[in-house]
Amino acid sequence: LPPFDAADPLGLDDLLTDEDRAVRDTVRRWAADRVLPHIAGWYERGELPGIRDLARELGSLGALGMSLTGYGCAGASAVQYGLACLELEAADSGIRSLVSVQGSLAMYAIHRFGSEEQKQHWLPRMATGEVIGCFGLTEPDHGSDPAGMRTHARRDGSDWVLSGRKMWITNGSVAGVAVVWAATDDGVRGFVVPTDTPGFAAPEIHHKWSLRASVTSELVLDDVRLPADAALPEVRGLRGPLSCLSHARYGIVWGSMGAARASFEAALEYARTREQFGKPIGGFQLTQAKLADMAVELHKGILLAHHLGLRMDAGRLRPEQVSFGKLNNVREAIEICRTSRTILGANGISLEYPVMRHATNLESVLTYEGTVEMHQLVLGKALTGLDAFR
Ligand code: FAD
Repeated sequence: LPPFDAADPLGLDDLLTDEDRAVRDTVRRWAADRVLPHIAGWYERGELPGIRDLARELGSLGALGMSLTGYGCAGASAVQYGLACLELEAADSGIRSLVSVQGSLAMYAIHRFGSEEQKQHWLPRMATGEVIGCFGLTEPDHGSDPAGMRTHARRDGSDWVLSGRKMWITNGSVAGVAVVWAATDDGVRGFVVPTDTPGFAAPEIHHKWSLRASVTSELVLDDVRLPADAALPEVRGLRGPLSCLSHARYGIVWGSMGAARASFEAALEYARTREQFGKPIGGFQLTQAKLADMAVELHKGILLAHHLGLRMDAGRLRPEQVSFGKLNNVREAIEICRTSRTILGANGISLEYPVMRHATNLESVLTYEGTVEMHQLVLGKALTGLDAFR
């Protein structure tokens, strides 16, 4: 039998191909080199300096629009994209959010629903990280229930005129292009908005206690005039943004396990070395119970993510299954961070260790891309056939 590996107690590495491992190791090395040495300081100062350089580097790794094909995208498998999300979020959820929004929301929307011209114009430069994208669905008064959105687009001749406000938009202030969802006479439609269009502004949101190393913004659309071909031609209705969100949520199923893994590793290392009452705290049964329970949830979560990845690669992943994964993995990840925090005692609240940073980041991850409650309702509806959303 192979020896027990504390880093991989279930032997999940056996499920990966050599290419999967190469992708994982490349992203892990990049994050160790470019993010980990700086992240505590960025987090403390609430900034992500050099975001454009980071985006370009992520582009050269092939991590932007990673599982999309053509237009300079890497065409990686869903499992490989998931592994990249896990490694990025093991560094910080903010970095993974940058990549998710770029690839799974902004690029995915254009790739799936855009015209050939829109794809040619935007995707190659987004894949390299030269152009950063954002995705505006949430509004100040419409989060979980986007159907009531106030942002609207009206026709003026052949032009579109877009007005309204979006809130909590990742990458907003640094984006060169915004995919904005707006109500029209023809239902909800997506618009590809160059951010230098007159009437568009993206003031940054400050005073966040979560995802501090991530740019979050308001989008202000004040009679933004766009040509007829700015609308995404291939989709009408909320099906458009919801299918993008399903793709991004899939990445979160993996990513959240990265934050959990980093916290668990910090707690395990601490439990082995920190001594109280004359022995390492890892030698106390209560600490071992925490470590064992965390390891079980962590590796079950990774196994679940892998299973969903294989289904996505086979074209068999249902949105309810993505809800299943997001609900479970983010909820368990935050529990793992909180339990790790207790093992580190007072040191657990310090930015010298990663756990509190990951725990507070996951408060956002728990809420965005569908709250816990929304995913419970999705599953509840699928199980019972009864809609409890309203
Ligand atoms: P609400 O919808 O007001 O919900 C508040 C509470 O009520 C929640 O607990 C919710 O589950 C509960 N609730 C609501 N309805 C029901 C119901 N029927 N039954 C039971 N409970 C209910 N959005 C974007 O479009 N693009 C982005 O890039 C983006 N990035 C984000 C980055 C960060 C850091 C954060 C924090 C958010 C981001 N969001 C983004 C917004 C995010 O998707 C929303 O916050 C989320 O959808 C929840 O909406 P809300 O905050 O308005 O909460």
